[in-house]
Amino acid sequence: MKIFTTRKEILAFLSEQRLQGKRIGFVPTMGALHQGHLSLIETSKNSFDLTICSIFVNPTQFNDPKDLEKYPRPIDVDIEKLTNANCNVLFLPNVQEMYRENETWKMELGDIENILEGKFRPNHYQGVTQIVSKFFELIKPDVAFFGQKDFQQYLVIKAMVDKLKLSVELVLCPIVREADGLAMSSRNVNLSNEERQHALALSKVLFNTKDNFEERSLDQLREDARSFLEHSEGLKLEYFEITEAKTLRPATTKNGDGLVALVAAFVGKTRLIDNLILK
Ligand code: AMP
Repeated sequence: MKIFTTRKEILAFLSEQRLQGKRIGFVPTMGALHQGHLSLIETSKNSFDLTICSIFVNPTQFNDPKDLEKYPRPIDVDIEKLTNANCNVLFLPNVQEMYRENETWKMELGDIENILEGKFRPNHYQGVTQIVSKFFELIKPDVAFFGQKDFQQYLVIKAMVDKLKLSVELVLCPIVREADGLAMSSRNVNLSNEERQHALALSKVLFNTKDNFEERSLDQLREDARSFLEHSEGLKLEYFEITEAKTLRPATTKNGDGLVALVAAFVGKTRLIDNLILK
């Protein structure tokens, strides 16, 4: 696997690869890689000549400095995992490589930016679009792969790609879970054994909602789920919502195109999110 840390190096390599007609699949990550990330790499590898993974803990998308500070960065282990996964290129820039001093960014993204995650993490999606647009501009991938785990992030990036009329195609990949249902997340390493058990309430409530989907009304499903989460030990609920999959606005009918249930909660000091497509 080739590892590049500067824009200049990766640009030179990519222009050479493009001359050879190689098609590029791109997987942006913040590292602390797990099977969820590796599933994206594998999907890219199945269809593309060249798979590029980036690892960059993007400071502009963290609204809490402590969260940024304690974000896991096991780079040696990550490199080993990517090598074993036969990833072709790792792009590993530092902050100075990606940002000019005092750089500003504002992209009008509409409603989607301020609801759910956006409401609890102000400016988060400005930071996400800022860095992903930089990566897209630099790498110019044919296709970029994102996990459903961050479903709202996928919709925000789709809105950005439409708005900027970028030619990259986006592919959404399923959530990879632990055997007991917990969605894999880089943040899971911060959970104690006890917290790890408490965290199971998130996936459990999503699966219960899906199981009861036919029998109960949307409002009953919401009420059941919120009540379950509010009474779950060791959990501080931020939101549970059943929304239209396209807009993430609260669903008012079960008859629409697609419905998704989304949840966010603190387990101890660790903030976790999860979601499940209901329909
Ligand atoms: P992150 O490193 O958390 O920024 O995630 C990088 C990419 O991996 C994003 O597109 C995530 O949605 C995706 N991802 C994270 N966790 C999972 C998971 N459990 N299953 C599938 N994809 C995931």
